[in-house]
This record gives sequence, structure tokens and C-alpha cells, in this order.
Amino acid sequence: MKEIPILAYHKISPQFEFGLTVISPKSFEKQMEFLQQKGYVGCSLRDYLQDPQQNKFAITFDDAYENIYQYALPILNKLGFTASIFVIVNFIGKYNSWDVNLFGIKFKHATQSQLQKLCDSNWEICSHSLSHKALINLTNEQIVNEIKNSKIDLDKMFNVKIDSFGFPFGYYNRSIIKILKEHGYKNGVSSTNNFKNEIPIYGRMGVYKFVDWKRSVYFKINKKHPLNFFETLKGKIIHSVSYLTVLYQKILGKS
Ligand SMILES: [Zn+2]
Repeated sequence: MKEIPILAYHKISPQFEFGLTVISPKSFEKQMEFLQQKGYVGCSLRDYLQDPQQNKFAITFDDAYENIYQYALPILNKLGFTASIFVIVNFIGKYNSWDVNLFGIKFKHATQSQLQKLCDSNWEICSHSLSHKALINLTNEQIVNEIKNSKIDLDKMFNVKIDSFGFPFGYYNRSIIKILKEHGYKNGVSSTNNFKNEIPIYGRMGVYKFVDWKRSVYFKINKKHPLNFFETLKGKIIHSVSYLTVLYQKILGKS
């Protein structure tokens, strides 16, 4: 099993937020155009795994916000790129009340018909659980429910096979991987690679506001570039901060 170049985005929007996960449509467009100029083709994780090529990289969007449909889809369509989107099933078409919304700034998740349009553009639909709770804090029964029923619901809604699971906040353990395998998932995605278990967990490189620009995104997917290691380190530091959200959820009783 080999590590593969995968980018992870959350929100593509001109809307302001206190945080690093919103990228403006303009910046996103610049990043994707730059990678295309460098000879790369962006695709879904499924497409990459079916036909890995030197010049390909996978694009993933966590949480399935409406702004991905509004802003990312037209940009990727224009360039001939596709992507994978990780859907929180119980929040389809709803506001992100599962998240810490500082100063009441909210974002809406894509509706079923918007997600269907992504499917129609050859995007891959993946599960990001039912409710976006950190699975490691749940009982075994609750974990099975999040993993199994999110897949069944997405299968039914879009009539596609769901192969990939994105761990809310990136947290998982060995028994969670076993449950994924038992319920027919082929892989999982998190922030670092883990190929020691029943199914592969692919690490991804997050792209963030303030700390990333078109060249840093290029260093992230070009594993041979000398600055690739620096981008990996940067990702680890930012990811460790995301644990604060899990703590907040516990304090606010959302977990
Ligand atoms: Zn998420």
C-alpha cells in the first residue's frame, strides 16, 4: 500500500468565519488552475484508486457544505476535475449546528438535490457519519449505527456504492476500522496514513486559510518535492488544534 496525494478542503466560500477552514472561491480557483498548469489532474478518491497515474491527485471535501455545490463544482467542472465529498447524513440541507459556531456564524449543508448534481458530474459520494460525533467517544452500538446507517441512507438516496468513510475530526481506533470493513467500506480517510489494519486509511493534506497558497498546495501533492515534509508537519500542527472542537462539543453536550 502506497501513500497517495489527497487534498482535504472544508468550505469554499466568500463568507467570513473565525477559523482556518474557509477558502475563498478565488483562492481555490487559483490553486486548482496552478495545479493544472503543472500538469496535474484532480479527481475523486475512487477514480484515483481505480486508475492511479503519476499526474493525478485526489480532491476531498469534508462535511458537504452547500458552498461546495455553489463555488467548487463550477470551478472543477471548468477544469475537467472531479472530487469526493464526505456527507454528514443527518445534516443534509441543514445548518451546521453540530459545529462550534463562534459568534453565531453558521454554514448550510448541501441538499439532497445539490448532492445529486455532484453525482451527475461524476463526483464520489462518501460517508462522514450520521451526526459528526467523534466516534471514539461513543458506545459500540452507537458507532455501528453511525457507520452502517449512513452508508445505507446514502446508497438509497443516490443509488451509488459508498466505499469510503471520513472519520469526524479524524479520530478512530482498530475496532472502528473492523466495523467499517464488516459493513462493506473499502477504505477510510483521516489526516495520516495507516495501512496496518483490515482496510487502508489514507492520510490527506488539509488546505487552510492564511497558511496556504497555490504553491504550498503544489508542495502538498508533489511527494517528491523537498518542501513536502514541511507541509506534512504544518498539517499535523493544525490537525492537533482541531481537537479543541471535540473538547468544546463535550463541554456543550453535543457529543
Ligand atoms: Zn468533518
